[in-house]
Amino acid sequence: MLHYKELGLVNSRELFKAAVKGAYAIPAFNFNNLEQMQAIISACVETKSPVILQVSKGARKYANQTLLQYLAKGAVEYSKELGHAIPIVLHLDHGDTFETCKSCIEMGFSSVMIDGSHLPYDENVKLTRQVVEHAHKFDVTVEGELGVLAGIEDEVSSEHTSYTRPEEVEDFVKKTGVDSLAISIGTSHGAFKFKVKPGELPPPLRFDILEECERRIPGFPIVLHGASSVPQDIVDEINKYGGEMENAAGVSEDQLRRAAGSAVCKINIDSDGRFVLTAVIRKVFVATPGEFDPRNYFGPARDELKKMIVAKNRNVLGSADRA
Ligand SMILES: [Zn+2]
Repeated sequence: MLHYKELGLVNSRELFKAAVKGAYAIPAFNFNNLEQMQAIISACVETKSPVILQVSKGARKYANQTLLQYLAKGAVEYSKELGHAIPIVLHLDHGDTFETCKSCIEMGFSSVMIDGSHLPYDENVKLTRQVVEHAHKFDVTVEGELGVLAGIEDEVSSEHTSYTRPEEVEDFVKKTGVDSLAISIGTSHGAFKFKVKPGELPPPLRFDILEECERRIPGFPIVLHGASSVPQDIVDEINKYGGEMENAAGVSEDQLRRAAGSAVCKINIDSDGRFVLTAVIRKVFVATPGEFDPRNYFGPARDELKKMIVAKNRNVLGSADRA
C-alpha cells in the first residue's frame, strides 16, 4: 500500500469546496504518457490552476500502473521545480468494479470514480456505497454517476444518452456518501458527440436538469464528463493533413463557461487534447516527411497541448489563479 499523501498528492474535497464557492471548475485532463503529463502540469503551473490528473482503465493498461504512480509523483516534483507547487489530484476515471478502485487506492490514487450508471438504480447505490466505505478509510474521495452519456471513450460506450433524473440525486448522495456526482445533461464521450450537418449547431445542454439537481443538493459538487469542444479549426487541420475526422463535433465553450459558474466543479476534457496532438503530428509528418526523431513531433505536439490547456483554464473553466 502506497498512500497518495506520500506522493505529495491531494484528494478533491477542498478543491471542490473552493470551486463551488468561487463559481469555477477544476480541470480534469486525462493522460497516458510523459508528454501529456508535461503539458498538463506546465500549463497548470503557468496559470496557477489546481488540476486533476485523470487515468482511465485503458491508460492504466497502456502506461503500466507502476509507471503511472511514479509519473504522478514526478508531476508533483515537476510543479515545484517549475516554481509553483499546485494541488494535484490523481483520479481514476470510470472505475468499473470495487476491485479496480481498491487497487488504485493501493497504488497511490487520491480520488476514484465508480461508474455504476449502467446498473439498475439500487445496484448502483450498493456498489458506490461499497467503494465509498473503503475509500474513505484512506481519505480518498469518490465520484459516482447517475445518468448515462452517449459516445465512446476508452472502454466506456453507450449509443444513447439517458439524462440524469433529478429526483434521484438527493437519495443517491445520501445513501452512498459520495463526494461528487457526475450527471448526464447532454455532454457526450469521444470525438463525434453529436450528429450535426455542416453549419448546424449541436443541441444545447439541458441546463434545466442541472438547475434542478442543484436545487435538490445545494452546494454539492457536480461533475461533467465528455466536455470537449472539438474546435473546428483543429479538426480542419487534421483533415487537411490526411486525417478523416469529418462531422466531429463537441460542446461549445460558452455552455461550458456557464456550467463552470454553477455547481459544476469538475469538467473532464480528453478528446480536445487528442485532437491537438493528432493535428500537430500529422502536420509535421506531411511537412517534413524525412523527420524521424520522435522529439521533433512529440515536442511540438506537447507545446500545442500546453497552449490549449492554458486557454481552457483561463477562458473556460475559470480555474486560473486559484492555486
Ligand atoms: Zn467520462
